[in-house]
Amino acid sequence: MWTCRHCGLEIMFRAVDPEIDEEGCFFLCPGCQARNALVNIGRGGEADPVALAQPPEEPEAEGAS
Ligand SMILES: [Zn+2]
Repeated sequence: MWTCRHCGLEIMFRAVDPEIDEEGCFFLCPGCQARNALVNIGRGGEADPVALAQPPEEPEAEGAS
C-alpha cells in the first residue's frame, strides 16, 4: 500500500502506475493528484530487478537535493 504524503490516502499498489521522469520515480495520488516520490530499492540485474518503495517520511523538499 502506498500512502499519499499530501492527503494521507492509502492506495493499493496496483491502483496507480508508477512513473519516472528526470526527477526520479513517482506516482500521482488519485485523490489529490499530488506527486509522491518513490525510490528504487532494487539492486538491478536479473536476480533483483527494479523495486519501488516510498522513501522514509521527510519534510517537503524545498530546493533540497
Ligand atoms: Zn493525495
